[in-house]
Amino acid sequence: MNINKYSRQISIPFVGILGQEKIKDTKVTIIGAGALGHSTSIYLAASGIGHISIFDHDIVEESNLSRQILFSDQDIGKPKAKCLTEYLKKLYSDVEFHFFDKEFSVNNSYLLPSNCNFIINASDNYTTRHAINLVSLQKNIPWIDLGILKTQGHFCLFNPGLGCYECLFSDATDTIENCSLSGVLSPICGIIGSFAANEVIKFILGKHTKDINHFFSFEFLENNFKKFYWKRNSDCQYCNAFLKLRPTSILEKKIYDDFFIDEQKFKEKQQDENNLAVFLDEPTLHSSLDSAFEESDFQNKKTKIQFINENIHSILNKNFFLIDKPKNEEYYSKFKLIIFLCRSGIKSKTACEIFRKQGFNAYYALNR
Ligand SMILES: [Zn+2]
Repeated sequence: MNINKYSRQISIPFVGILGQEKIKDTKVTIIGAGALGHSTSIYLAASGIGHISIFDHDIVEESNLSRQILFSDQDIGKPKAKCLTEYLKKLYSDVEFHFFDKEFSVNNSYLLPSNCNFIINASDNYTTRHAINLVSLQKNIPWIDLGILKTQGHFCLFNPGLGCYECLFSDATDTIENCSLSGVLSPICGIIGSFAANEVIKFILGKHTKDINHFFSFEFLENNFKKFYWKRNSDCQYCNAFLKLRPTSILEKKIYDDFFIDEQKFKEKQQDENNLAVFLDEPTLHSSLDSAFEESDFQNKKTKIQFINENIHSILNKNFFLIDKPKNEEYYSKFKLIIFLCRSGIKSKTACEIFRKQGFNAYYALNR
């Protein structure tokens, strides 16, 4: 790796040489070689993403040139994916590029590179979005949806197991209102594409966590910005199918992996003075709170981890600060680990201490 080339990025503490190597080892697939495909691919390649694949079945038209900034008059009539890839190859010689002159679908998803780390939707239609969502769940690949129209833009990241496109937009179908008819201001394509590249890099480096399960919406005429929190729809058949494929829920697996597989990592995370706290990022904590008593996985007595976030009083006593013995001790003894969750961390810490005194392997979750 050319360290000097990426030195400004490497200088950022959470990137460093290791982070830059992670970026280099990342495979991203971009669906769409139009305006959003241009801006995302340029910034991802410039940032040092090692492997970029591009799908698009369209050809370059004159009306594309004001937004699809690498194309010129000489490219009119040429296949977009091939044309964009050729320009990128000239600019970023240390990136491996592949292109597919095809419209992405579930049927040709086998063309995705093996171990693809991330998919970006840079297309403007819902059929493709639904297809990417399905493939994302089938192959367990996170993806980001992008959209632009008139003076507006949006992006939203989907991580399998924490919610999917169908949870939010199961009814979304293609309408006649797209950029070709309604128009879009050219610089907006660059802004939203840059956001996407930034989100991908944050995700790869584990810095995305606060933005998972948020929908970002921008209106650029007045420069208004909104950030909506959303959660997985427990009735979503797509998510439920995905979760059933896994031995435990992804959330449980994530925490189990974080805290048990890597003992050293687990110890490092015990930063609380009493070594009782596990530090969960905000979305994971939200998801835990939301799902602790909804999902059968968490209720299953075979599970290794039990999250407790119901009214903690009910398992202790009404004045739980005074009590020193948990109710239903036998039930909780079946779990290898108990994590208490509450909004402030105060009740859960007290409950944790009481369970500890009784010999339970208990922790409480704090927002990192
Ligand atoms: Zn879903």
